[in-house]
Formats: sequence, structure tokens, C-alpha cells
Amino acid sequence: MKAHDGMYIGGMWRPAVGADTIAVVNPADEQVIAHVPAGTAEDVDAAVRAARAAFPGWAATPPAERAAKIAALRDELAERKEQIARTVTAELGAPQQLAETVHAGLPIMVAASYAELAASYSFEEKVGNSTVLLEPVGVVGAITPWNYPLHQIVAKVAPALAAGCTLVLKPAEDTPLTAQLFAEAVHEAGLPAGVFNLVTGLGPIAGQALAEHPGVDLVSFTGSTAVGRQIGATAGAAVKRVALELGGKSANVILPSADLARAVNVGIANVMSNSGQTCSAWTRMLVHKDQYDEAVDLAAAAVAKYPPGERVGPLVSAKQQQRVLGYIEKGIAEGARVVAGGSEAPRETGYYVSPTVFADVTPGMTIAQEEIFGPVVSILRYEDEDDALRIANGTVYGLAGAVWGEQEDAVAFARRMDTGQVDINGGRFNPRAPFGGYKQSGVGRELGSHGLGEYLQTKSLQF
Ligand code: NAP
Ligand code: MG
Repeated sequence: MKAHDGMYIGGMWRPAVGADTIAVVNPADEQVIAHVPAGTAEDVDAAVRAARAAFPGWAATPPAERAAKIAALRDELAERKEQIARTVTAELGAPQQLAETVHAGLPIMVAASYAELAASYSFEEKVGNSTVLLEPVGVVGAITPWNYPLHQIVAKVAPALAAGCTLVLKPAEDTPLTAQLFAEAVHEAGLPAGVFNLVTGLGPIAGQALAEHPGVDLVSFTGSTAVGRQIGATAGAAVKRVALELGGKSANVILPSADLARAVNVGIANVMSNSGQTCSAWTRMLVHKDQYDEAVDLAAAAVAKYPPGERVGPLVSAKQQQRVLGYIEKGIAEGARVVAGGSEAPRETGYYVSPTVFADVTPGMTIAQEEIFGPVVSILRYEDEDDALRIANGTVYGLAGAVWGEQEDAVAFARRMDTGQVDINGGRFNPRAPFGGYKQSGVGRELGSHGLGEYLQTKSLQF
């Protein structure tokens, strides 16, 4: 795979300050496919300076012109769609179809939505005798994970650009090639030098330097709750704005009035997609006691349609594979019943995990509480709706969820859930709906106008 051996700073590829590199591995065959530079605090500092220098000009650029640049960026991404998909397959292991439709397709949609929003959003509002100005926060430090490498980048960069902010991006060490491709698209789209900057590197070095940098006004982080907590503390100490998109342990609540087979099948597909490496995946399936055995049989049959290597790719790294296998073993040790899959690696080569279904999972078990981030579903039994609600809300997380059943009942149930988004009877993903977490799933929202709002601060003028 083609890789740049520098950082994209101030509108050009510049050599890194240090000589360390990161090896990028293809998780399907465990081969090293490229090396990228491992940035240091000095690289981060150069990037933040470039972003600061570019900020006044970009903030003063009329929203319609910013919108035109985002639209150009969208077009550059669309032109590279196949290359993006191939790169995501190579460094994340995503099956080709998923890589094309979701990993490459979704960011194009999100970029398009912000090109439109930037042009139509009202950056000024009247409140009685005041005019409220919505102004860009400043320089954004964006830190992203590997699970949706391009989507996570675009979900931060597009709204920040729309708001008039400039950025420095530190992408995940496992998926830096997609980030480099994105920087190429930014360059070709003709964004002014310094508006977007890329520093590849390790989290505790480059990521931490970015979060701590006094020249950064807002840190937008997507990743684990453990790192998010640290970044929140760092930002808090500096009285800096922060947005955190963190982990999840979402519930798929199947009410007795639901189409059981559909709810189970869509629920399994939701978790198997991206090998279970989706923060909003419905990893806990909640089924009424009278339908429980039938649901377990349906789930076991559904999982058989996801053979590793075809519809289900490997996990991103050996570390993630070991982590997920450890959770499967923990589930067995705590008394859950494996009805499909298990802790044996299904292939000799590649970081694969067998799609796994656990029955007889009780709410207190580790596999019902902690985020596994792999192709593992836990099926829990509930007595009645109040019991289902207690179980659904009974984790530290609150990112997403699903409810299936007669529509009015499903909506009434969803209103009582402590979570940021709920799909009713298989409702489609909406790239303009706010995305983000309740409780320890995060602070702030991404996507649509709510996502844009994160990058704005308000000033009121009284008349
Ligand atoms: P992670 O370890 O928290 O990493 C996320 C990003 O933070 C990476 O770029 C990472 O760099 C960087 N990082 C690590 N330590 C850092 C530090 N001390 N200071 C600053 N940056 C640091 O998470 P991950 O393993 O990549 O991703 C999986 C987790 O992300 C899961 O828990 C998942 O639920 C969550 N996630 C949440 C959402 C959401 O929208 N809510 C979306 C996707 C993923 P390295 O790559 O070098 O480690
Ligand atoms: Mg990490």
C-alpha cells in the first residue's frame, strides 16, 4: 500500500521531526503493508501552529464559501471511493462490500450533509433585544479510532470546517493510511493551507500532546471510555471545550408484540457488521421469558449465515482478538451458555473470532456489562416491561439501542431508555440525526446541526 512518509501540515507533506515509524498490518493475513511516521510533541506543535495561523482567515470566510470547499472535499472523496474502500479493507480487514457501502459511502454522505448545512445554517439569531452570534470555537484537536476510520474523521472535520474552525487530526495508529488518503482529498479540494493538518502517531505520545496543547481550543475525541476520561480531565484542567464519543453496551429490546424472527435476525446482523467493532452495536438482546427459547434458536440459526472471512472480517489487531476471546472465556466461566461460536479462533491466519451467541446471560455478568467490541451477542431473559427497562438501563453506558414491537409501545419504551439513540422496528440510520451518548458513553453530539453546534461558541450583542 502506498503511504506518505511525512505529516500533512500547513498544506504540504513535511518530514516528521523524529525517525520512529508505525507498521501498518493487514489483519486478514497479518502482513505488514506499510509504515507511517510516528509523530512526536514537536510534530503536533508544528501542526497546531499551522492551524492557529490559518484560523482567522478561515473563520472570516463566508459560510457559503466554506460550504463550497466542503462540497469539493465531498467530491474528492467520491472520486477516491474505490481507493478508500481498498485501503480500509487492507488496514481494518473490512469485507469489500462493507468497505464500499459503509466505510467509503457513509463519509461521502456526511460530507455532503455538512456542505448543505454550512450553506443554510444561521450563524446569527435574535433573542429579544439581543443578536446572538454563533462563532467558531477555534483550533480543534481531533483524535479518532480505527473502527470506522474515515467516518470518524469526517464526522469531526466536516462540521468543524462548516463552523469555521481549523483542525489537527491524530488518527488511530492501526488505520493511518485512510487518514493519509483523506489528507490528499483535502489538499485536492483546495482548502487553504493549515485549515486541516494531519499528525500520525501513537495515542499516549502524539494524541496526548494534542489534547494537552495550549493552542488547541477544543478536543474532539472518539474512542474508549478509559482514554476519554483522561482526555476529559486534561481538557477540564485547561478549561478547554471537549466532546467525547465513547463506548457502548446497547440493548436490543424485543417486546412480546414484535415480529420475533425479524427482530432477532436484524439484531444479529447489527452486531456481526464490522465484526462487532461498532460502538453503537446492540450487543445485548433482551427477550421476554415466554419467547426466550425460540429467540435463542433463531439467533443460533442467524449466526450461521456469517462465516468468518466472507461476511465477517477479522478484528483489527491481535490485541483486539485476544481481548474478545478473553471475554468469551469469561462468559463461559461465569455460567453463560454458548449456542454458537466460542473461544477457538476459526482460522490459522488472521485475527478472526467466531461469531458467538451466548444464552442464559444474566444482567450482572461481565459479558452483559462491559464492551466486548467483537462479534458476540448476549441474550438476556426478562419477566415484564419494567424488568426489561431495568436491564436495558442497567449499565454505565447509554449510546444506542433498539426496540421492536407495536409502534406505540415501542416508542413509549424508548422514551424511558437512558440512551442517545434508539431504532424503532429497524429504523434506518440517519446521517443527520444527532449521534452521541448518555451516561459514560460520552459528552456532546456528532452529525447534523447538533454536531455543528459543538464547534460553535456564542456571543450576544444587546441593542
Ligand atoms: P482508544 O484506545 O481509546 O483510541 C482512540 C484514539 O485515542 C486513538 O487515536 C488512540 O491512539 C488515541 N489515544 C490512545 N491513548 C491516548 C492518550 N493517552 N491520549 C490521547 N489519545 C490517546 O480506542 P480504540 O481502541 O482505538 O477504539 C475502540 C473504542 O472506541 C471502543 O471502546 C469503542 O466503543 C469506542 N468508540 C466509540 C465511538 C463513538 O462514537 N461513541 C466510535 C468508535 C469507537 P492509538 O491508536 O495510538 O491507540
Ligand atoms: Mg488504542
